[in-house]
Amino acid sequence: MTHAIVRNSNPFWIDEKHDFIQSFLNHPRIIHAELSTNNDEYDIVVIGTGLSGAGCVYWLRKLYPVERFPRILLLEKNARPCSGASGRNGGFLWPSYDYLVGYAEDFGYENGCQWIEFQHENIRSIAQAVEENKIDCDINITRGNVALARNTEELKNIVKSYELMKDYLETHSKTKMSLDNLELWDHEKCQEMLHSDKFIGGLFMRESGTVWVAKLVYGLLKYCLDQPGVELITQGKVIRIEDSKNIILENGRVIVARQAIVHATNAYAVEYLDFVRDKIIPTRGQCCRSKPMETIFWPFGLSAHDGREYYHQSPKDGCIVFGGCRWRSPDTEHNNQNDAEVNHLIGEEHKKFFSLWHPGIAEKSLTVEIDQEWTGIMGFTVDHLPLIGPLPNDSKQFLLAGYNGNGMPNGFLCAKAIARMIANDDPCREGEENNTVTFLKMFLPERFDNPNIVQTSQKNRH
Ligand SMILES: Cc1cc2nc3c(=O)[nH]c(=O)nc-3n(C[C@H](O)[C@H](O)[C@H](O)COP(=O)(O)OP(=O)(O)OC[C@H]3O[C@@H](n4cnc5c(N)ncnc54)[C@H](O)[C@@H]3O)c2cc1C
Repeated sequence: MTHAIVRNSNPFWIDEKHDFIQSFLNHPRIIHAELSTNNDEYDIVVIGTGLSGAGCVYWLRKLYPVERFPRILLLEKNARPCSGASGRNGGFLWPSYDYLVGYAEDFGYENGCQWIEFQHENIRSIAQAVEENKIDCDINITRGNVALARNTEELKNIVKSYELMKDYLETHSKTKMSLDNLELWDHEKCQEMLHSDKFIGGLFMRESGTVWVAKLVYGLLKYCLDQPGVELITQGKVIRIEDSKNIILENGRVIVARQAIVHATNAYAVEYLDFVRDKIIPTRGQCCRSKPMETIFWPFGLSAHDGREYYHQSPKDGCIVFGGCRWRSPDTEHNNQNDAEVNHLIGEEHKKFFSLWHPGIAEKSLTVEIDQEWTGIMGFTVDHLPLIGPLPNDSKQFLLAGYNGNGMPNGFLCAKAIARMIANDDPCREGEENNTVTFLKMFLPERFDNPNIVQTSQKNRH
């Protein structure tokens, strides 16, 4: 019975049939939790092997000499690394220009624009890591993505976001962002580009794209495990932390972290970490992948309905990855941590989407047929900001979580910021020196104890 349920949620990206998974699992530095010795001691222990955890260890080894942190451990509860959201997502690498109006309302104009700049820098740093380490992960950050509007209310948000960014760029001449990156589409342009007359406008963003995230993460993990002093323990589920240094695994083993513990466990952190229980809301997202299609309808990625639906087509085989429609579930999938099952109501909406919104596909006598469906768990936060930094009053434990379903354009630089914080460096400095943004203080968990961190900026409305 359990078997049948598990097969229901079958993420394409980490499907057993892909060779890159099995060949990675043969790495000699991967240890099964049962075989690790009790009272293992490490300088740093990073819990979780998604983009966040892998990224954090990557940066610790890239930025600092081995002698600084001789022994580093990655801990993963599953048999396979990257089995959480990073192996189950939509694969978009998309700075949230289209959300800027919301960011500015919630966190202030300057903070909102800086957050977009941070996301841009994050995407570039992923592309650089991929290139430097020759990671084969289908990354393309120039194919572009378009946020589409179906009605005037959605269009208003998109146009307002564009105008806010235009204004920001006029007054911040040194930034590395450019208005050339953005293009507003009207109804006619949408018709020309989309095989659909259903969208009345859109915001096209050139420097953004897609990536096979699990391959990216496995590439980063391989880099980490090839470095001296780095190990990975699988099937090592953390159930408790004692005295900010003893990590208790489900099987009773205790691992000691001498300098720092990083919680890169996304929404799953609510299972064992008190601080996040009232701050992170586990929220289940659902994606599917179609059978191959002969025609490539869109060379770029797309989102609709204020980002609630998102999709892109592989230029290799025409398969469409589609995600969203949580609104179809009575509880919008909030407080749901079961990624072994899919929601059939949401699945029905996925099936209907293309005939409703892209009638041009049927006009070519083609149908989008779903081949695989899966779910994954996102870490939404109560104030919609990531939680990045030390736990208040505990300088040895760091949170690296809470991307509100938008981890790809945030996670890698957040991981770098945590590496810097562990080494007592300022994560903002690199950005300040290079006319860009490498960290935002409003992400710090201490904002819940010290509301000035965010509220000051909220008053800074445009
Ligand atoms: C369906 C879906 C679609 C999405 N689409 C996109 C998208 O297109 N673009 C985008 O930017 N973002 C997207 N996201 C969000 C994105 O995937 C996440 O923000 C990102 O993957 C989070 O990465 P992470 O490393 O922090 O967490 P995860 O990838 O979830 O990694 C956490 C790891 O911790 C491990 N773990 C958890 N608890 C424990 C424990 N107690 N002990 C040991 N190990 C533990 C887990 O097994 C897992 O490997 C999507 C998410 C979902 C679910």
